[in-house]
Amino acid sequence: MYDIIIIGGGPAGLTSAIYARRANKKTLLLESTVCGGQMINTNNVENYPAVPATDGLSIAKAMEAQAKELGTEIEFDEAINIEKTDNGFIVKTQTDSFETKAVIIATGTKPRKLGLAAESKFEGRGISYCATCDGAIYKGKPVAVYGGGNSAFYEAEYLSGLAEKVYLIHHHPEFKADEVLVERAKNNPKIEILTNTEITDLVGDKKLENIITSEKEIAVDALFVAIGRIPCGVKLITDLNLDSDSYIISDENGKTNIPGIFAAGDVREKKLRQIVTATADGAAAASSAIEFLNN
Ligand SMILES: Cc1cc2nc3c(=O)[nH]c(=O)nc-3n(C[C@H](O)[C@H](O)[C@H](O)COP(=O)(O)OP(=O)(O)OC[C@H]3O[C@@H](n4cnc5c(N)ncnc54)[C@H](O)[C@@H]3O)c2cc1C
Repeated sequence: MYDIIIIGGGPAGLTSAIYARRANKKTLLLESTVCGGQMINTNNVENYPAVPATDGLSIAKAMEAQAKELGTEIEFDEAINIEKTDNGFIVKTQTDSFETKAVIIATGTKPRKLGLAAESKFEGRGISYCATCDGAIYKGKPVAVYGGGNSAFYEAEYLSGLAEKVYLIHHHPEFKADEVLVERAKNNPKIEILTNTEITDLVGDKKLENIITSEKEIAVDALFVAIGRIPCGVKLITDLNLDSDSYIISDENGKTNIPGIFAAGDVREKKLRQIVTATADGAAAASSAIEFLNN
């Protein structure tokens, strides 16, 4: 029987593990892919205190090493269900099941899709949701990024170092991204910004060749979709209170409506989704779980 099972090995989950182990709680962290979460696909992190400029992978590796050194057990397996029992919970994964007294859900988010009929046809053939993962494939080619938030600008900037040209397409006249990122993109000769432009269709034979927009047709080899994200793992347990966008409702200490179930990081309903807020949530949720176990 574990004291705490943490689902998700991003910055929120890894921080929860560090706090749980420092309180000597028997802790298992379940991660469906590799530890680090969204950080591993982030080329430049410029806003994590005390680390002025680094890449997400370096922070991820340091957090994972710290959690392991403190004695966190890590299983690379996807959690598929949490069941309430008389003395805690059973967490079922794809291959196993584990008993625990408390659970921290730190499952983060995944990219929101465009929702166009042709999108799935071109996934892996020109449509991508991660410039760091797939950008190198399109070295010297024209590409586009769709979106207007920080992620879209990070993606465009990263791609400008590889691609022949980057169209940054946004359906609104204004951007949600930080001013510093918008200014950098405007001054980048490789990036052409198209506002008030909606993508209406995707065209190509075996791979993406043209983006049809409300304004014009754009010939590109790839389109990187950066239009926001949706929460993962929120249906692991029934009766969990979610907001209208399906984010987990919890208080600032990570307590959900189900005693013994805590939430941390991007999966929570909150305003700012960043590494620094994910780690803060991870610490808060672990502290709440520790308090729950000690009472
Ligand atoms: C392109 C991009 C650039 C960014 N740049 C910055 C930046 O410069 N600075 C900054 O502060 N933030 C940045 N962010 C945001 C930051 O990365 C996130 O806010 C942060 O990673 C959220 O951490 P998290 O632990 O809550 O979730 P995530 O990082 O999403 O991690 C969740 C983890 O849970 C795992 N998981 C999900 N479901 C299950 C399941 N059922 N079972 C087991 N494991 C599961 C996932 O595989 C993942 O590893 C960026 C994000 C993106 C996409």
